[in-house]
Amino acid sequence: MVRTNSRRRKSSGWSLYKDLMTEGVTPVGHVPTDDGGRMDISMATRPPLRIVHTSDTHLQHDRLLCSADTLGEGLPSGDVLVHSGDFNRYKVNCCVRSTHYEDLLYQIDTFFASFPHKLKVFVAGNHEGCLEGVSSQEIQRHLSNCVYLCDSSTQFAGLNFYGSPFTASRLLTVATGFSESWRRLKRRWSLIPDSTDILITHMPPLGILDLASEMLPNKWPSLFRLKTAILPPSTCGTCGFVHVGRQHWGCPVLRETVLNRVKPKLHLFGHVHESYGTLQRDNTVFSNGAFLFKRKYNVFDYYLEEKEGL
Ligand SMILES: [Zn+2]
Ligand SMILES: [Zn+2]
Repeated sequence: MVRTNSRRRKSSGWSLYKDLMTEGVTPVGHVPTDDGGRMDISMATRPPLRIVHTSDTHLQHDRLLCSADTLGEGLPSGDVLVHSGDFNRYKVNCCVRSTHYEDLLYQIDTFFASFPHKLKVFVAGNHEGCLEGVSSQEIQRHLSNCVYLCDSSTQFAGLNFYGSPFTASRLLTVATGFSESWRRLKRRWSLIPDSTDILITHMPPLGILDLASEMLPNKWPSLFRLKTAILPPSTCGTCGFVHVGRQHWGCPVLRETVLNRVKPKLHLFGHVHESYGTLQRDNTVFSNGAFLFKRKYNVFDYYLEEKEGL
């Protein structure tokens, strides 16, 4: 229930939180509104849940360990910290299948141990191929500082978090962990419960923060020029723009599932390094937290319903 006429109540925790409110924090969830239906976070009767999201750190996570007021891009504190996959090395010649999974899990757990958040969640990505085929119980056995989600969910503060690592198989890549055909992906997304409040996938939905650079212009520019000469650039059928040298990597069925069935308040993902950012469609806020290129993370204040509680 959204309280539109409630008297403003303040607790000591709330005033502390107001101090933490800075630019760059996106309000999500049941954001209070005034009588005119405009968002007014000052009408909240209790502190929101602060959620910090990062992804695709590709072994550059040391940059996130510094505190925000010192050097580096240190992650801010909060209630929930989510890493939505591709913690592992990026370079193509370091095939992740050669990494012993226990070493990787040790690094992941040490990373999460550095942060004070009450709930810390990790979802694998296509660069975590060494975790594929290892049971969730075995992986969780090596992780004492975070919750590992693999087509599974966890609850915190009355909210349902659901995570899935799967992405679409791509040609010319060795990072093929948790990669599936489009047909099998459709089955994966059908497992997402309707009751999900916060969805975490490595895969973006089609047309939402999913524009990636094509390989052809970078690796074989003359071939790319030939291609554009034969097939002149045209308007994209997905987004309506012309984006030469860039293509959508997102999944159409995931988009359909999120926008028309599950309708989570927040969808956190990564995978496409070029499309870091946040945006809102209908009542869902989308977050591409890919760290590698932009060196940024996303922060949300989730306002709880009256029945939800910390
Ligand atoms: Zn497009
Ligand atoms: Zn990825």
